[in-house]
Amino acid sequence: MTRDKKLIIGNWKMNLNMHEASLYVHQLSGLVQSRRDVEVVLAPTLLTIQSLSLQVDRRQFKLAAQNLYWRDYGAYTGEVSARQLRGIVDYALIGHSERRHIFNETDKDTRSKIQACIRNQIRPVLCIGETASERANGEATDVLHDQLIGGLANVTSDELEEVVIAYEPVWAIGTGDNALPDDVTKAVVAIRSQIKHLYGATAAKNVCILYGGSVKADSAADYLAINGIDGLLIGGASLDAHAFNDIIQKAHDSAAKAKK
Ligand code: PEP
Repeated sequence: MTRDKKLIIGNWKMNLNMHEASLYVHQLSGLVQSRRDVEVVLAPTLLTIQSLSLQVDRRQFKLAAQNLYWRDYGAYTGEVSARQLRGIVDYALIGHSERRHIFNETDKDTRSKIQACIRNQIRPVLCIGETASERANGEATDVLHDQLIGGLANVTSDELEEVVIAYEPVWAIGTGDNALPDDVTKAVVAIRSQIKHLYGATAAKNVCILYGGSVKADSAADYLAINGIDGLLIGGASLDAHAFNDIIQKAHDSAAKAKK
Protein backbone atom coordinates (compact mmCIF):
# COMPACT_ATOMS: atom_id res chain seq x y z
CA MET A 1 0.00 0.00 0.00
CA THR A 2 1.41 3.39 -0.91
CA ARG A 3 1.56 6.13 1.66
CA ASP A 4 -0.80 8.37 -0.30
CA LYS A 5 -3.57 5.86 0.40
CA LYS A 6 -5.24 6.19 3.83
CA LEU A 7 -5.80 3.10 5.93
CA ILE A 8 -8.82 3.04 8.27
CA ILE A 9 -9.23 0.04 10.56
CA GLY A 10 -12.29 -0.56 12.75
CA ASN A 11 -11.56 -2.72 15.80
CA TRP A 12 -14.85 -4.11 17.10
CA LYS A 13 -13.15 -5.75 20.09
CA MET A 14 -15.48 -8.29 21.81
CA ASN A 15 -18.68 -6.74 20.40
CA LEU A 16 -21.35 -7.79 17.86
CA ASN A 17 -22.65 -11.33 17.53
CA MET A 18 -23.04 -13.10 14.17
CA HIS A 19 -26.37 -11.52 13.39
CA GLU A 20 -25.34 -8.01 14.47
CA ALA A 21 -22.04 -8.27 12.59
CA SER A 22 -23.77 -9.30 9.39
CA LEU A 23 -26.33 -6.50 9.69
CA TYR A 24 -23.58 -4.00 10.36
CA VAL A 25 -21.64 -5.02 7.24
CA HIS A 26 -24.80 -4.85 5.18
CA GLN A 27 -25.48 -1.34 6.49
CA LEU A 28 -21.89 -0.11 6.10
CA SER A 29 -21.56 -1.46 2.58
CA GLY A 30 -24.60 0.61 1.61
CA LEU A 31 -22.99 3.74 3.03
CA VAL A 32 -19.36 3.46 1.99
CA GLN A 33 -18.42 4.43 -1.50
CA SER A 34 -15.37 2.44 -2.58
CA ARG A 35 -12.49 4.82 -3.01
CA ARG A 36 -9.08 4.05 -4.36
CA ASP A 37 -7.50 6.42 -1.90
CA VAL A 38 -8.87 4.78 1.27
CA GLU A 39 -8.50 1.17 2.39
CA VAL A 40 -11.19 0.16 4.88
CA VAL A 41 -10.48 -2.78 7.17
CA LEU A 42 -12.85 -4.39 9.66
CA ALA A 43 -11.53 -6.32 12.66
CA PRO A 44 -14.46 -8.40 13.98
CA THR A 45 -14.26 -11.13 16.61
CA LEU A 46 -12.84 -14.43 15.40
CA LEU A 47 -16.29 -15.98 15.80
CA THR A 48 -17.74 -13.87 12.98
CA ILE A 49 -14.72 -13.53 10.76
CA GLN A 50 -15.28 -16.59 8.59
CA SER A 51 -18.89 -15.78 7.75
CA LEU A 52 -18.06 -12.12 7.14
CA SER A 53 -15.30 -13.18 4.76
CA LEU A 54 -18.03 -14.72 2.60
CA GLN A 55 -20.27 -11.67 2.92
CA VAL A 56 -17.89 -8.76 2.26
CA ASP A 57 -16.79 -7.58 -1.12
CA ARG A 58 -13.02 -7.49 -0.65
CA ARG A 59 -12.76 -4.54 -3.02
CA GLN A 60 -14.81 -2.59 -0.50
CA PHE A 61 -13.59 -3.94 2.84
CA LYS A 62 -10.69 -6.05 3.97
CA LEU A 63 -10.75 -8.06 7.19
CA ALA A 64 -8.31 -8.13 10.09
CA ALA A 65 -7.92 -10.54 12.99
CA GLN A 66 -7.78 -8.85 16.39
CA ASN A 67 -5.25 -11.44 17.55
CA LEU A 68 -3.81 -14.81 16.59
CA TYR A 69 -1.45 -17.42 17.94
CA TRP A 70 2.04 -17.64 16.53
CA ARG A 71 2.36 -21.43 16.14
CA ASP A 72 0.89 -22.65 12.85
CA TYR A 73 -0.95 -25.66 14.35
CA GLY A 74 -0.83 -28.06 17.29
CA ALA A 75 -2.10 -28.65 20.82
CA TYR A 76 -2.92 -25.04 21.77
CA THR A 77 -6.45 -25.23 23.08
CA GLY A 78 -8.52 -22.13 22.46
CA GLU A 79 -6.11 -20.55 19.99
CA VAL A 80 -6.39 -19.73 16.28
CA SER A 81 -3.28 -19.53 14.12
CA ALA A 82 -2.17 -17.22 11.34
CA ARG A 83 -2.07 -20.30 9.12
CA GLN A 84 -5.78 -20.91 9.79
CA LEU A 85 -6.56 -17.25 9.09
CA ARG A 86 -4.55 -17.14 5.89
CA GLY A 87 -6.77 -16.24 2.94
CA ILE A 88 -9.55 -15.05 5.28
CA VAL A 89 -7.90 -11.91 6.63
CA ASP A 90 -5.50 -9.46 5.03
CA TYR A 91 -4.36 -7.87 8.30
CA ALA A 92 -3.96 -8.80 11.98
CA LEU A 93 -3.68 -6.51 14.99
CA ILE A 94 -0.62 -7.50 16.97
CA GLY A 95 0.16 -6.33 20.50
CA HIS A 96 -3.00 -4.26 20.96
CA SER A 97 -2.80 -2.57 24.37
CA GLU A 98 -5.68 -4.71 25.65
CA ARG A 99 -3.69 -7.82 24.72
CA ARG A 100 -0.58 -6.42 26.41
CA HIS A 101 -2.25 -5.12 29.57
CA ILE A 102 -5.17 -7.50 30.18
CA PHE A 103 -3.64 -10.69 28.75
CA ASN A 104 -0.02 -9.93 29.65
CA GLU A 105 1.36 -10.21 26.13
CA THR A 106 5.05 -9.44 25.92
CA ASP A 107 7.26 -8.03 23.18
CA LYS A 108 8.47 -11.59 22.63
CA ASP A 109 4.86 -12.63 21.89
CA THR A 110 4.38 -9.73 19.46
CA ARG A 111 7.64 -10.66 17.73
CA SER A 112 6.56 -14.29 17.24
CA LYS A 113 3.10 -13.23 16.06
CA ILE A 114 4.56 -10.80 13.53
CA GLN A 115 6.70 -13.61 12.16
CA ALA A 116 3.62 -15.86 11.97
CA CYS A 117 1.77 -13.15 10.02
CA ILE A 118 4.61 -12.64 7.59
CA ARG A 119 5.03 -16.33 6.81
CA ASN A 120 1.25 -16.58 6.23
CA GLN A 121 0.85 -13.51 4.00
CA ILE A 122 -1.05 -11.48 6.59
CA ARG A 123 -0.05 -7.83 7.17
CA PRO A 124 0.68 -7.29 10.88
CA VAL A 125 -0.45 -4.05 12.51
CA LEU A 126 1.99 -3.65 15.39
CA CYS A 127 0.28 -1.61 18.11
CA ILE A 128 2.54 0.38 20.39
CA GLY A 129 1.96 3.07 22.99
CA GLU A 130 2.75 4.28 26.47
CA THR A 131 0.54 4.08 29.57
CA ALA A 132 -0.51 7.16 31.55
CA SER A 133 2.17 6.59 34.19
CA GLU A 134 4.90 6.01 31.61
CA ARG A 135 3.82 9.26 30.01
CA ALA A 136 3.83 11.10 33.34
CA ASN A 137 7.36 9.80 34.01
CA GLY A 138 8.61 11.06 30.66
CA GLU A 139 9.17 7.51 29.38
CA ALA A 140 6.92 7.58 26.31
CA THR A 141 9.72 7.63 23.72
CA ASP A 142 11.60 4.83 25.49
CA VAL A 143 8.45 2.68 25.57
CA LEU A 144 7.87 3.17 21.85
CA HIS A 145 11.51 2.36 21.20
CA ASP A 146 11.37 -0.86 23.25
CA GLN A 147 8.08 -2.03 21.74
CA LEU A 148 9.36 -1.37 18.22
CA ILE A 149 12.65 -3.16 18.79
CA GLY A 150 10.82 -5.97 20.60
CA GLY A 151 8.23 -6.52 17.89
CA LEU A 152 10.41 -6.01 14.83
CA ALA A 153 13.53 -7.86 15.98
CA ASN A 154 13.35 -10.58 13.31
CA VAL A 155 11.76 -8.51 10.53
CA THR A 156 13.90 -7.90 7.43
CA SER A 157 13.81 -4.70 5.35
CA ASP A 158 11.73 -6.42 2.68
CA GLU A 159 9.29 -7.75 5.27
CA LEU A 160 8.95 -4.32 6.88
CA GLU A 161 7.09 -3.19 3.76
CA GLU A 162 4.19 -5.40 4.90
CA VAL A 163 4.17 -4.10 8.48
CA VAL A 164 1.87 -1.33 9.66
CA ILE A 165 2.60 0.46 12.93
CA ALA A 166 -0.25 1.85 15.04
CA TYR A 167 0.63 4.45 17.65
CA GLU A 168 -2.00 4.12 20.36
CA PRO A 169 -1.33 5.83 23.68
CA VAL A 170 -2.89 3.46 26.21
CA TRP A 171 -4.41 6.32 28.21
CA ALA A 172 -6.34 7.49 25.13
CA ILE A 173 -7.88 4.11 24.22
CA GLY A 174 -11.55 3.85 25.06
CA THR A 175 -11.28 6.71 27.55
CA GLY A 176 -12.47 9.69 25.51
CA ASP A 177 -9.13 11.40 26.35
CA ASN A 178 -7.72 12.94 23.22
CA ALA A 179 -4.00 13.06 22.57
CA LEU A 180 -2.87 16.48 21.39
CA PRO A 181 -1.78 16.55 17.75
CA ASP A 182 1.62 17.87 18.95
CA ASP A 183 2.10 14.78 21.12
CA VAL A 184 1.12 12.50 18.25
CA THR A 185 3.55 14.36 15.98
CA LYS A 186 6.35 13.80 18.52
CA ALA A 187 5.54 10.10 18.71
CA VAL A 188 5.48 9.74 14.91
CA VAL A 189 8.82 11.50 14.62
CA ALA A 190 10.25 9.15 17.27
CA ILE A 191 8.86 6.08 15.47
CA ARG A 192 10.17 7.11 12.05
CA SER A 193 13.57 7.97 13.49
CA GLN A 194 13.75 4.55 15.16
CA ILE A 195 12.79 2.89 11.86
CA LYS A 196 15.47 4.95 10.13
CA HIS A 197 18.01 3.76 12.65
CA LEU A 198 16.97 0.12 12.13
CA TYR A 199 16.16 0.02 8.40
CA GLY A 200 17.36 3.25 6.76
CA ALA A 201 15.84 6.47 5.46
CA THR A 202 13.67 4.99 2.70
CA ALA A 203 11.99 2.54 5.07
CA ALA A 204 11.42 5.36 7.58
CA LYS A 205 9.75 7.46 4.92
CA ASN A 206 7.61 4.62 3.56
CA VAL A 207 6.42 2.77 6.66
CA CYS A 208 2.67 3.14 7.22
CA ILE A 209 1.80 4.64 10.64
CA LEU A 210 -1.71 4.85 12.09
CA TYR A 211 -3.00 6.76 15.08
CA GLY A 212 -5.57 5.30 17.47
CA GLY A 213 -7.17 6.45 20.71
CA SER A 214 -10.75 7.67 21.11
CA VAL A 215 -10.88 9.07 17.57
CA LYS A 216 -14.39 10.12 16.54
CA ALA A 217 -15.76 11.63 13.33
CA ASP A 218 -15.23 15.16 14.67
CA SER A 219 -11.57 14.59 15.57
CA ALA A 220 -10.57 12.30 12.67
CA ALA A 221 -9.59 15.11 10.28
CA ASP A 222 -7.22 16.66 12.85
CA TYR A 223 -5.35 13.39 13.34
CA LEU A 224 -5.29 12.61 9.62
CA ALA A 225 -3.75 16.04 9.01
CA ILE A 226 -0.72 15.22 11.18
CA ASN A 227 2.41 14.93 9.12
CA GLY A 228 3.45 11.27 8.97
CA ILE A 229 0.06 9.79 9.94
CA ASP A 230 -1.30 7.49 7.21
CA GLY A 231 -4.57 6.40 8.75
CA LEU A 232 -6.52 5.59 11.89
CA LEU A 233 -7.29 2.64 14.14
CA ILE A 234 -10.79 3.15 15.49
CA GLY A 235 -12.36 1.25 18.37
CA GLY A 236 -15.62 2.51 19.87
CA ALA A 237 -16.60 4.77 16.97
CA SER A 238 -16.31 1.88 14.50
CA LEU A 239 -19.28 0.13 16.12
CA ASP A 240 -21.72 2.59 14.61
CA ALA A 241 -21.83 2.22 10.83
CA HIS A 242 -22.80 5.88 10.29
CA ALA A 243 -20.05 7.21 12.58
CA PHE A 244 -17.50 4.89 10.97
CA ASN A 245 -18.58 5.94 7.50
CA ASP A 246 -18.13 9.60 8.51
CA ILE A 247 -14.55 8.79 9.53
CA ILE A 248 -13.94 6.98 6.22
CA GLN A 249 -15.25 10.06 4.42
CA LYS A 250 -12.80 12.25 6.40
CA ALA A 251 -10.00 9.96 5.26
CA HIS A 252 -11.08 10.39 1.67
CA ASP A 253 -11.16 14.20 2.09
CA SER A 254 -7.70 14.08 3.63
CA ALA A 255 -6.30 11.92 0.79
CA ALA A 256 -7.89 14.19 -1.83
CA LYS A 257 -6.41 17.26 -0.13
CA ALA A 258 -2.94 15.69 -0.01
CA LYS A 259 -3.07 15.06 -3.77
CA LYS A 260 -3.69 18.75 -4.60
C1 PEP B 1 -8.55 0.61 19.75
O1 PEP B 1 -9.21 -0.31 20.22
O2 PEP B 1 -7.50 0.38 19.15
C2 PEP B 1 -9.02 1.99 19.96
C3 PEP B 1 -8.31 2.98 19.46
O3 PEP B 1 -10.19 2.13 20.67
P1 PEP B 1 -11.00 3.52 20.87
O4 PEP B 1 -11.12 4.17 19.52
O5 PEP B 1 -12.31 3.11 21.44
O6 PEP B 1 -10.18 4.37 21.80
